[in-house]
Amino acid sequence: MNRMFRQKPFLTVVLPLIVATLTTGLLFGALLLSTLKSDEAAIQRQRDLLSLVIDKLEDEVAHNQESATVWDDAVTHVQQRNQDWMSSNLGEWMHTYFRHDAALILDNQGGLVYEFIAEPSKTASGVTIANVAAPLVSKLQQRLVAGEVASGTTILSVGESDLLDLDGRAAIVSVKPIVSDSGEIEQEPGTENLHVAVRYLDGVLLSELATDYQFENLAFVRTPAVAADVSNVSVRSGSGQTIGYFQWQPFTPGASVIQAVYPVVLLVGVSAFLLMSFLGRAIWRRSRSLAASQRELRQLAMHDPLTGLSNRTTFYRTLVQRLERADTENGVAVMFVDLDHFKEVNDTFGHPVGDALIKEVANRLLEIAPSALVSRLGGDEFTILQDVDDLVEVELLAGRIIEKLRLPSQIEGNLITVGASIGISLAVPGLEATEMTRRADIALYHAKAAGRNKFAVFGSHMEEVLRRRRMLETDLAIALETGTQLGVHFQPVYAAMDGRMSSMEALCRWMHPTFGAISPDVFVPIAEECGLIQKLGLYVLEEACSLLADVPDCDVGISVNASAIELMAPGYALRVLTMLSKFSLDPSRLEIEITERVATDTEDKAAAAIRSLREAGVRFAIDDFGMGTSSFGQLLNLNVDRIKIDKMFVDQLHENGGAPLVEAIVQMARHKGLKTTAEGVETADQREILASLGCDSLQGFELSKPLNRIDTKKLMSKHESGSREAFG
Ligand code: C2E
Ligand code: CA
Ligand code: CA
Repeated sequence: MNRMFRQKPFLTVVLPLIVATLTTGLLFGALLLSTLKSDEAAIQRQRDLLSLVIDKLEDEVAHNQESATVWDDAVTHVQQRNQDWMSSNLGEWMHTYFRHDAALILDNQGGLVYEFIAEPSKTASGVTIANVAAPLVSKLQQRLVAGEVASGTTILSVGESDLLDLDGRAAIVSVKPIVSDSGEIEQEPGTENLHVAVRYLDGVLLSELATDYQFENLAFVRTPAVAADVSNVSVRSGSGQTIGYFQWQPFTPGASVIQAVYPVVLLVGVSAFLLMSFLGRAIWRRSRSLAASQRELRQLAMHDPLTGLSNRTTFYRTLVQRLERADTENGVAVMFVDLDHFKEVNDTFGHPVGDALIKEVANRLLEIAPSALVSRLGGDEFTILQDVDDLVEVELLAGRIIEKLRLPSQIEGNLITVGASIGISLAVPGLEATEMTRRADIALYHAKAAGRNKFAVFGSHMEEVLRRRRMLETDLAIALETGTQLGVHFQPVYAAMDGRMSSMEALCRWMHPTFGAISPDVFVPIAEECGLIQKLGLYVLEEACSLLADVPDCDVGISVNASAIELMAPGYALRVLTMLSKFSLDPSRLEIEITERVATDTEDKAAAAIRSLREAGVRFAIDDFGMGTSSFGQLLNLNVDRIKIDKMFVDQLHENGGAPLVEAIVQMARHKGLKTTAEGVETADQREILASLGCDSLQGFELSKPLNRIDTKKLMSKHESGSREAFG
């Protein structure tokens, strides 16, 4: 359907109007045509009627005359030229009785014997009438001379009549001989006196006609009016000369029918309009809802339902199109934005909060990059497709995004802080969309590896790093499966006071078949990211517990490192306690080292695990104390037993304020009932200072490097004997 035809105004107004107008028009047209025809016929009938009436009038005038002209007395008195008699019986009498306007009596030579003029000032004189009537008179005389007699029953005498013009007025002029009614008075044919009667067609006659035959506005005119609502019929003399016209307003029954039917037709039209409008509205509604669901489908296919941003398909399609133009126009950059710690937010606060956070992030991205195509690929992954002039521009934008996304969000009463890492790739001629997104992904990986809240622009060196990393991922999975390349070393921790070994820290080792020893600083994050960390942690825990079980006479404790993901995973506490009971170990011999982030950020889940483990007797330590962002005061309030003062502080002991700082930490910890361990003690000097500052225990290469299992067991056996192992 054409677009216009689906528009609401067209369907509900224009189309119904057209249909209604057509319906009304056709109906009205048909009606008009039939009424016009009937009106035409009516007018013709009125014309015929008027002509007939005039004919009849002519006969009537002649007939009226005979009531006095066919009469013995009249013959006698006229022959005697008795003026009084003529006046009372043939002149005035006819005027009063028949309303004749004039009467003349002529002798057989045409001489005027008597005249009666009703309104002498307005009408023709007797002489004029005689002159005008002369042709009629002579015609009648010829007939009389010829001895013609009246035929028929009603007409008593021969006569002549005509419609004639008398001084500009049309009149019926009738001439009759004055003859005997009894037949007793003999007159020689042609010698009879004649009676002329005149009746004007205008004036009194007109109003009589109008009332008798119901002609509206009947008038006698010399020239007919040219108007639609006026009819006329011409008045002609016997010779065919037109004297004038009767003119009237014809009765048109059709027009009155139309007037009567008009409202009905209008009603039909309005009804048709309303009906059509109603139908049109229904059609429009249907087509609108159809269009809406089509739009919705399209929206669903192209957009992310949660944020309303474009989805992966749209992003990819747009990128392909954009790259096709990239050679001629300025450059284009793809940014992969990945939230840091989003999974933790989801796990900690629940999915509704996670969703709200994603929406908030979407809004912020749209705000920062209004001209870009911002899409959500799923989860906490966003992409930004932006036209750029140069690298500096992209870097500035990336920096702004990171700054904006690390601002805390207030969601359902929780103040939530996440950050973002961004990977960027720039279009180069001939680069395909798949390759470009792959590059952005690699750059993102590098940004994450460099620490959170960083961005990285793709460079070719990243390929190699990525390849290596992918390899490590698979290799680590294999290593964990086989258990052959992995091992655990144990670094003793000594009491600062007497140098006796107080515990050991289990540290994971990986001997890669081709790369050799790989640092846990490298493989632990990999394990965290590819979901292997729990397996790894459990492996180390088992090694640690089995070590203690192997040397039952040694009562030192052992500590393991646990990453945030492990602690928040459901069932962590149970797994730990199960492991302890498997080796019949007192939970108090185990200490779990956690980071500040675990202890502070993700309150609920980790806190629950920590709480139940502590209740069972397991102890906790904050590892790398002082390296995070939390204040010391905050940290010391946490639900732990020990803090491990980071190597950085130990390294700074000789610097200005270094020692007092450590002393303050130790004092505060002691005040809160926490034990302290100093990490990374590398010199005897450091060892002595730390001991004097009040640290409870010390750990570091100066005292002992991490030892393999065999060496550790040896050390543990010596410890049994109670000698001062560490301090010479
Ligand atoms: P960390 O928990 O701080 O462990 C101490 C690290 O410092 C160990 O490195 C240890 O060898 C090293 N170290 C000890 N004394 C000295 C010293 O005097 N000087 C210097 N320079 N270094 C010293 P390692 O074994 O490479 O472990 C690195 C990090 O890997 C650990 O730091 C820990 O965070 C993590 N890690 C190790 N094993 C595990 C594990 O089983 N699970 C988890 N989640 N993390 C682990
Ligand atoms: Ca540690
Ligand atoms: Ca540490």
